[in-house]
Amino acid sequence: MEQNKQVKIVNPEKGTWNNIVLSEIDYKAANGKYRIRGCGSPRKVPNFDDLVILPGQCTRMTIDTYREDCETRVVLGKRFAKNPIVLETPIMIAGMSFGALSKNAKIALSKATAMTGTLISNGEGGCLPEELENSYRQSIQILASRMGFKKELLFQADMLEILYGIGAKPGLAGHLMGEKITDEISKIRQIPAGIDLHSHPRSGDAFGADDLVVKMKQLREITNWETPIFAKIAASRVREDIKIAVKVGFDGIILDGCTAGTGAAPVMAADHLGIPTMPALVQAVRTLEEMNVKDEVSLIVSGGIKDGADMAKAIAIGADAVAIGTAAMIAMGCRVCMNCQAGQCAFGIGTQNPEQVAKLDIDVAARRVANYIEAMTAEAVLLAKAAGKTKLSNLEREDLRSMTLESCAMTGIPLAGSDLVIGQGFGYTASNTL
Ligand code: SF4
Repeated sequence: MEQNKQVKIVNPEKGTWNNIVLSEIDYKAANGKYRIRGCGSPRKVPNFDDLVILPGQCTRMTIDTYREDCETRVVLGKRFAKNPIVLETPIMIAGMSFGALSKNAKIALSKATAMTGTLISNGEGGCLPEELENSYRQSIQILASRMGFKKELLFQADMLEILYGIGAKPGLAGHLMGEKITDEISKIRQIPAGIDLHSHPRSGDAFGADDLVVKMKQLREITNWETPIFAKIAASRVREDIKIAVKVGFDGIILDGCTAGTGAAPVMAADHLGIPTMPALVQAVRTLEEMNVKDEVSLIVSGGIKDGADMAKAIAIGADAVAIGTAAMIAMGCRVCMNCQAGQCAFGIGTQNPEQVAKLDIDVAARRVANYIEAMTAEAVLLAKAAGKTKLSNLEREDLRSMTLESCAMTGIPLAGSDLVIGQGFGYTASNTL
């Protein structure tokens, strides 16, 4: 019978059971455990590419790209701290630990900050003396686990970050495979060498907002109110988290979206925890505006920032600065193989193997990161000038339009070519957008 005939299917469309899903199930079936991945999540999420910037025409005069200036300097952490940080460009190097990254990579990144006048965060667990020596401005993370904590670091820091979460794996904390924990890392992080590390995601001395207030008071007294103190938060319940951070008295917030990178994370965490950077930023700005502290509390956003357009759009939405992690690694030579957790990086970046680490020339890598930061700053300046701005920080939401219904609904920024706003967003209406 014709209907019973076997039909040979060539290149079948497998739907749910695509090759990635097959490979994941095979891995779990063979090993009885879930997979760990480096770099974060490859899943496609709404991002800054879904927005465009409106250039000046009859209504706004453009600024001459080649003859007129556009200020890029930014002051961060001025809410309560006596010594806010002044950066020459609003691009900082995100917290990436010595452990996830090689010593050469960490030193190259810190040297790049000195070449460009910006800031680097030490990342989880201790700070290399060479990083402190070479950086232009240094942020030091204070971890729930207290790993690598030394009181001297409080006085050496230009900025302090209390770490609540990492965008690539919110709700979890550092995960460093034993292969990458050398004797030097063991000493700096105060952990045993060669044994897989899972650091604590929750503070042992701050179980709620009241405890945080006490902790903040202690840090203010120790630092004599001189050093700006930021909260680093993974993008989750942004509105509620920001409200608590503001009430606790932070000078600023680093908001890390789910597209952020990491040295190692369970695939489940990287792909299914947290919300994307762009909508998280929108919600953060809206919350700060509702609380009337938008001009006081500095907002740094990170997670998938890749070029001057991302940066200009983030600033237009309301960020004061951006932080780059994976992009800085790529500038040094990383090819995003997503296998950092194995510790065998062929480019000397995500490894502690001495032969591989030696492949990364510190000065060449530093120059490449500095070039990238300079080019990214120039790209953002080009876009800001086209929009008629003499300061990067003058970019505003009215300069943006959404390219997709999804980004329009998420951001409240009108759809390109119309005044249409889907949902509440920032409260834009046809009458107040133009
Ligand atoms: S190239 Fe190196 S640093 Fe980049 S993802 Fe692969 S292992 Fe990690």
